[in-house]
Amino acid sequence: MNRKLHVVSLGCTKNLVDTEVMLGRLKSFEMTDAPDEADVIIVNTCGFIDAAKEESIQTVLNLHEARKEDSLLIMAGCLSERYKEELQKEMPEVDIFTGVGDYDKIDELIRAKRSRFTPHVFLSDNQERIITGSSSHAYIKLAEGCNQSCSFCAIPGFKGKLHSRTLESVEKEVRRLTERGFYDFSFISQDSSSYLYDMGGRDGLIRLIDVVEKIEGVKSARILYLYPSTTSLELIDKIAKSPVFQNYFDMPIQHIDPEILKRMKRGIGSENIDTLLKAMRSVENSFVRTSVIVGFPTESDEQFGHLCDYIEGFGFDRVNVFEYSDEEGTDSYELKPKVDPETIAKRLETIASTVERSTLKSLEKMVGKRVEAVVEGPSDEHEFLLSARPLLWAPDIDGELLINESDLEDLKFGALYTVEITQLAGTQLLGRIVDAR
Ligand code: SF4
Repeated sequence: MNRKLHVVSLGCTKNLVDTEVMLGRLKSFEMTDAPDEADVIIVNTCGFIDAAKEESIQTVLNLHEARKEDSLLIMAGCLSERYKEELQKEMPEVDIFTGVGDYDKIDELIRAKRSRFTPHVFLSDNQERIITGSSSHAYIKLAEGCNQSCSFCAIPGFKGKLHSRTLESVEKEVRRLTERGFYDFSFISQDSSSYLYDMGGRDGLIRLIDVVEKIEGVKSARILYLYPSTTSLELIDKIAKSPVFQNYFDMPIQHIDPEILKRMKRGIGSENIDTLLKAMRSVENSFVRTSVIVGFPTESDEQFGHLCDYIEGFGFDRVNVFEYSDEEGTDSYELKPKVDPETIAKRLETIASTVERSTLKSLEKMVGKRVEAVVEGPSDEHEFLLSARPLLWAPDIDGELLINESDLEDLKFGALYTVEITQLAGTQLLGRIVDAR
């Protein structure tokens, strides 16, 4: 009888790729949704902000409650990397702690039942990943670590400096995945626009685009997490002209007030951010996503107002809003005055309605258009609806398009169709399949 494995992947898509790498190493296990049946339970944790840390710890404790005797409980990922010593002392429930450098050795760790914490760059090109959640789309990691010094961020402290994969390694992984039928790719890292900077290149993404465009079987691609100070107008133009890369621009700006940007140590001012965003917006049919932080130390009502006004005026397609999290060891941890929690809560409410209006406008613009979309499967909303994703959107974060009519029969999940977007019901787009691609 096969041993059973239960896995929970928390946090961002970069963590998901690491989880998939672990699954690739543990192919001999049978997956189970029931933690009480599992012989091995892995929680790939996130330690980015307080809420993520709490969620990670609570998930581990809940699984410990549920697990059967003699099972192995493993805490992997960012949180156990960052707080390894404290967690080892305070969480005797966990059998193995592993950091961010041990994903490709998870099978050995289970065998040896011992923990190792030496971080090293792990980037899979030869290992076979088990891609979760899709038969058409895969995330591809470009690099580990980060050379930026954003004052609010603890990631470089525990993930280390930027270490890019070689282009050959990325190409090899994409080719292997196309052979398995994957045709849509999202390229990710902490700061994707710095890709290959550590190897002396300033045009890493431009070179990546050239390479990926030539791989047979790649129908669509996008790059996530562009960092403003390393994103160039040339790169925006390259993406705009690419026959394969979507006109998808994901650039977390974090704020727009000049003083706050300086204190965040983002290495770029508001005018240059605005120039880049406008260049992205002016690309035909572009999709522009960003993220911002609310309640950064010293943020005044006026500075917060600048941020809201900018979001209102710019017309982002999506905006992620994060509440400032005071992380030990970061520069902004020392910065005062802090914004009190009540004010932050009010600001979050205000900005949520600004963001909602912006998203709604973006969705309204799509009604009446025909888009290329992948039909992913039955919708969770209703048994008669199918869930689809316009290829312009990234999976997991940009939402879904519900299909309630089709001119074709025998639809295949994972295949591409032309979908006419017929209406917006609340915040949900509905569409009709009119043709196969
Ligand atoms: S770019 Fe800034 S926010 Fe992102 S990981 Fe690097 S230091 Fe952190």
